[in-house]
Amino acid sequence: GRFDRQIVVDVPDLNGREAILKIHTRKVRLGKDVDLSIIAKSTPGLAGADLENLVNESALLAARSNKKTISMIDFENAKDKVMMGNERKSMILTPQDKKVIAYHEAGHALVAYHTKGADPVHKITIIPRGQALGITAQIPEVERFNYPKSYMLGRIDILMGGRCAEKLIFNDTSTGAGNDIEVATNIARKMVCDWGMSDKIGPLKFGKKDEEVFLGRDYSQQKNYSEEKSIIIDHEISAFVKKAELNADKILSDYRHQLDDIAKVLLDKETISGDEMRSIIEGVAEETPKEE
Ligand code: ZN
Repeated sequence: GRFDRQIVVDVPDLNGREAILKIHTRKVRLGKDVDLSIIAKSTPGLAGADLENLVNESALLAARSNKKTISMIDFENAKDKVMMGNERKSMILTPQDKKVIAYHEAGHALVAYHTKGADPVHKITIIPRGQALGITAQIPEVERFNYPKSYMLGRIDILMGGRCAEKLIFNDTSTGAGNDIEVATNIARKMVCDWGMSDKIGPLKFGKKDEEVFLGRDYSQQKNYSEEKSIIIDHEISAFVKKAELNADKILSDYRHQLDDIAKVLLDKETISGDEMRSIIEGVAEETPKEE
């Protein structure tokens, strides 16, 4: 059930990104306008491998337009591709599928908009890219090194937003939310077992680090807590996710007209920026001339 993808953050900081970019651009010829510190600033959220990929994609784009050097615009264009995957315009979706995807993505985006402290929505698209049929990308405004509980709870609310929008509009859910549910459950599990964010459980660490598990030992032998504790943990994880579902439901039904407006523009334009989304929500959307 992988249907869309939220861009997740676990990444180098600003200086780290600039250093990584310097390494990977050694092999290529950069135009005079290229400023790696600006690229580093505009790529919070990208990991080392993504930055390497960004350089390679930029070089490809420059080569495709028969340029001898890579310029800033190549980096700009490569960024979308790296952050959201390859466009797959050839994929044929039924109008009903498209509508479900549009509402699903609009659901993530609207919950993000109304969630205090959430990373701003950068772009929403219903053009299939990579493994995903739609994407809502959020990018942090500033470098973050530590995440408060409220932020993590907000992340789960936003992840539930896609499925909740489908439920609200179509009175049904789809396999498309499978990946969202998986990510949400993993976050909730970490909050409970690793980060001491459950009041019922308290600041205790359950289970061992993943690296140890990967050493080939049986996971069941790694369990350092009782069956009863395990039931409470599962209960807490499910309570976090269910509460998030309620929060998302409430936002979407309170702002149903905004959800409809975003989905409608998405169906029409297929990709909108975060700024476009905000002007739709804030009701100052101007009639922009349609492409094609
Ligand atoms: Zn989703």
